[in-house]
Amino acid sequence: MYHRVAQTREFDQLIVSPRRFEAQMSILAARHRVVSLGEGLQALRDGRLREPMVAVTFDDGYLDNLEVAAPILQRYSIPATVFVTTRFCDQSAVHPRYAEGEQGANGLRVHLDWNQVRALADVPGLEIGSHTVSHPYLQTVPEARARQEILDSRLQIERELGRPVRYFCYPSGDLGSREVALVREAGYEAAVSVAPGRNRPGADFWRLRRTEITDRDDDRAFALKLSGAFDALHGLLHVRRQRRFARAAARSRTLSKP
Ligand SMILES: [Zn+2]
Repeated sequence: MYHRVAQTREFDQLIVSPRRFEAQMSILAARHRVVSLGEGLQALRDGRLREPMVAVTFDDGYLDNLEVAAPILQRYSIPATVFVTTRFCDQSAVHPRYAEGEQGANGLRVHLDWNQVRALADVPGLEIGSHTVSHPYLQTVPEARARQEILDSRLQIERELGRPVRYFCYPSGDLGSREVALVREAGYEAAVSVAPGRNRPGADFWRLRRTEITDRDDDRAFALKLSGAFDALHGLLHVRRQRRFARAAARSRTLSKP
């Protein structure tokens, strides 16, 4: 799981430098079976996973995915799925993390516009998925709003691109059984979470796991992450985050009662 590929002065959990990203992609291409999300899911469905497979994803639809990441992906023939938030593509909202400061406030756009999403979708091996309309914590919003976030984003991306949108990505990995039901109802084939670790045959296609890669992942750390060495630790941290989400969802339910 990636977000941005860009050069920054300070460490940002969501940003990997172009140099680091290229090193990681070269390791993937040399040592791993890298597949598209669709191919990986097909293998999971068939239960024919003789060797581990890796799929690359990007969240939020950043402009650097097209300008910086795509050329590197192409150089190594690595497919990827980019999950876009439609209001970010409309340029009517920005991911809160980049709404102010160095990027964003001074007029520099951080997100892809629709022409750029189309350009990205035209890159061989790249596919666009949905990451909602406005990037909310889905469990904290009323059901009608959650349904609209999940379904309308899919319809708008399909209209803009003229091709089907098959995969969904929960913002911040905030999901419960209601969100899973809505994603299925909206006609997606699968959805990705931020629960860390590998997906094995029999995996839940509505809660697919992903491992976050950061700029701190040098060759050694990257190889260890891919081998699953951090899965137990990341799993513990994830349980804590899920508890926080559950508390926030409970609070918003209490608040919305008359
Ligand atoms: Zn996101």
